[in-house]
Amino acid sequence: MLRVLNPATEEVLAELAEDGPSSIARKLERAGAAQRAWAARPLAERLAALARFRDAVAADREALARTLSLEVGKPIAQARVEVGRVGERIDFFLHGVEAVLRDEVVHQDAAFEERITQEPLGVVANISAWNYPWFVGANVFVPALLVGNAVLYKPSEHATLTGLAIARLLHASGVPEDVFVPILGAGAVGAALLEQPVAGVFFTGSYAVGRRIAEAVAPRMLRLQLELGGKDPAYVAEDVDIDAAAAAVADGAFYNNGQSCCAVERIYVHRAIAAPFVEAFTAAVRSFVVGDPLDESTYIGPLTRGAHLAFLEEQLADALGRGGRLLCGGRRLERPGFYFEPAVLDRVDHSMALMREETFGPLVGIETVEGDEEAVLRMGDTSYGLTAAVYSADGERARRVLEQLDVGSAYWNCCDRVSPRLPWSGRRHSGVGCTLSVYGIHSFLQPRAWHLRRA
Ligand code: NAD
Repeated sequence: MLRVLNPATEEVLAELAEDGPSSIARKLERAGAAQRAWAARPLAERLAALARFRDAVAADREALARTLSLEVGKPIAQARVEVGRVGERIDFFLHGVEAVLRDEVVHQDAAFEERITQEPLGVVANISAWNYPWFVGANVFVPALLVGNAVLYKPSEHATLTGLAIARLLHASGVPEDVFVPILGAGAVGAALLEQPVAGVFFTGSYAVGRRIAEAVAPRMLRLQLELGGKDPAYVAEDVDIDAAAAAVADGAFYNNGQSCCAVERIYVHRAIAAPFVEAFTAAVRSFVVGDPLDESTYIGPLTRGAHLAFLEEQLADALGRGGRLLCGGRRLERPGFYFEPAVLDRVDHSMALMREETFGPLVGIETVEGDEEAVLRMGDTSYGLTAAVYSADGERARRVLEQLDVGSAYWNCCDRVSPRLPWSGRRHSGVGCTLSVYGIHSFLQPRAWHLRRA
């Protein structure tokens, strides 16, 4: 039995039956036949179904945001933003998919025509995370469905109600029940799903689980995409507007309670402005309203996972034990729910877990650097490679710093940002493969090469 908790109250919201190996096998078998029929339909029908889904999500936005807020503790204003903006991603795919699917003749001569056609993979597994279930889910299932795949979709155990709402709206919009199939449960159910002969695995989650998945499926040589964690740095040069940069980086670090794959997790500030920047940053964090996620004014709700409180406390204790200075927050709140006061440290360095391991919560360290060269060294000192940000009045200078970093996304004077038009990809421990943009449509396709000799 899967118990869905409200992290703000620790009350049980729902108890649901979990899937197991036999129910998953049955679902996969049905999905196989349904996928072939789905792929054979005219593209216009699949486009129309997903356009209806977009409209249904928009029409139901308030209730969907409330469900999301209740089960993951996301402040209602931020939940509305997530549900509201998923439409823009769907639109991107609706407009982009036809061109990607078009046959391409790449060569013709007297003897030969060479042609490329695109085919769906088949039935794919999507194992998803809870932190942005609408965004990271839609990045996968929307293009996957549009190009003709069936999707066995395992929402995170912390976002199951949202996963069921997604399934309900897709089915009501005309995606057959055997083409988009929810699989309910926690990690063991995800592992059981991987044992089935799916045509591809699309995973969003932590490096630790992603690595286990990569190892488990390696012998099968199937399409594997891993969107994993980060330890994303931001460098603040001395030529910025200090208050504006402090406010922007604080938002990048603490939005969604720091539970974003691309949250700013390490801050490096130029020595020339270190003191006023740290002061402005800490003031911004102190101003964040911590409280009930259903309250309109709340900026920081509870953590989604209660067990993560102890993890944050460990990172904090380790940093303090190695000379870090706590400037604000860092305690659990004396109330039900998984609340942790947003915490800022300075005097941190890379001997501390806080500056090396993904934190995924409202806790961040600020380190002082002497200039761009040292910033590059510190920013690059990580096994992750999702994003990096530079705040500077000088765009050329920012580009020089960012070009030296092995990351999928580079931000100048912004951070914690995702665009449907740009590829979203991690390097090294941040993952393999790509969602969004035109590349994030190809992820769900396999090209076929046609060598056509004229008789
Ligand atoms: P997680 O790795 O704990 O779980 C992710 C999913 O994997 C869940 O559905 C879970 O049930 C399932 N799972 C767990 N063990 C499994 C196993 N052995 N086999 C198969 N499935 C298994 O991650 P999470 O806590 O849900 O999400 C947070 C993580 O996701 C963070 O590291 C975050 O950075 C990352 N993330 C990355 C992106 C990105 O786009 N790169 C986006 C969102 C989140």
